[in-house]
Amino acid sequence: MEEKTAIITGASSGVGLYAAKALAKQEGWHVVMACRNLEKAKAAAQSVGIPSDRYTILPIDLADFQSVRAFVSNYRSLGRPLTALVCNAAVYYPLLDEPLRNADGYEISVATNHLGHFLLCNSMLADFAQSNVPDKRLVILGTVTANPKELGGKIPIPAPPDLGDLQGFKDGFKAPISMINGKKFKSGKAYKDSKLCNVLTMRELHRRYHASTGITFTSLYPGCVADTPLFRNHYGLFQTIFPWFQKNITGGYVTQELAGERVAATVYDPELKESGMYWSWGNRQKPGRRSFAQEISDEASDEQKAEELWDLSLKLVGLA
Ligand code: NAP
Repeated sequence: MEEKTAIITGASSGVGLYAAKALAKQEGWHVVMACRNLEKAKAAAQSVGIPSDRYTILPIDLADFQSVRAFVSNYRSLGRPLTALVCNAAVYYPLLDEPLRNADGYEISVATNHLGHFLLCNSMLADFAQSNVPDKRLVILGTVTANPKELGGKIPIPAPPDLGDLQGFKDGFKAPISMINGKKFKSGKAYKDSKLCNVLTMRELHRRYHASTGITFTSLYPGCVADTPLFRNHYGLFQTIFPWFQKNITGGYVTQELAGERVAATVYDPELKESGMYWSWGNRQKPGRRSFAQEISDEASDEQKAEELWDLSLKLVGLA
């Protein structure tokens, strides 16, 4: 059987690490762990027991567009036909009063979670085109807090996701601008906005390329993995209480292992092969829960906004 290769960004911890583990367990799969800290990624892969012949680690810093371009070129030199790309890496800075920025001057969570992945997805369409494998998939992680159609997405702290008329992107997204809607900086909202962009990007990839390429484009909410390092920049007390709350009150808690298995399933499971879908296993977890197509928010379904976001993002990453 010919080996199938999946790239997973941010595979050095949390959901991405366990997705790499789960996929490497599937027969015939090789995982390219696209990570910014190579030592950490290697130690992480060893710590969860991924056999050394089932993975390759390549450097990528998604906040640095040169690094994303270098990753694409390094990937090509491996000579591995691409079967799947999983855009999983993310940063979350809920407590900042002032925005952190990448080298281009863009707010860091939108730059990393959306723009870096947007550039990566666009660049790797050529690699999918080169590859003759029959079942190609591109998966972008979403989250419940970016989807007001779900209870977890209705929490107005600090504000619900909302890209407005994309004025911040239209105005170049550099200081003093820090939010996509061009309004006042709210760090937790910047994360939600970036994850909304992830779903809009998936929908636009589906609209533009599914019919012509056969690639399956999907997103998912793997459950509330309340104890990953994603929350490392939150209050210490929050990091203690949040997992307890999700385990004992909401019932939304999912282990990193189970979340990783769900992400891996979106890559290989024939039941999750429908392009344009946003998969979920629900907000309340019970053993044996099955996946279903979760309705996405009105904003995430807005085709005109998806197209506009696409065009503006092309400019911001230098692809226009
Ligand atoms: P995590 O443990 O913090 O993992 C994030 C990964 O992204 C790490 O490997 C991190 O690398 C990497 N990363 C961060 N910035 C990067 C950059 N500039 N370039 C390259 N890699 C970078 O978080 P997680 O909870 O597993 O989150 C993974 C995904 O799941 C995210 O897309 C998140 O939105 C989504 N998600 C999480 C939850 C949850 O409850 N945790 C729920 C729904 C969706 P380092 O190891 O070097 O920091």
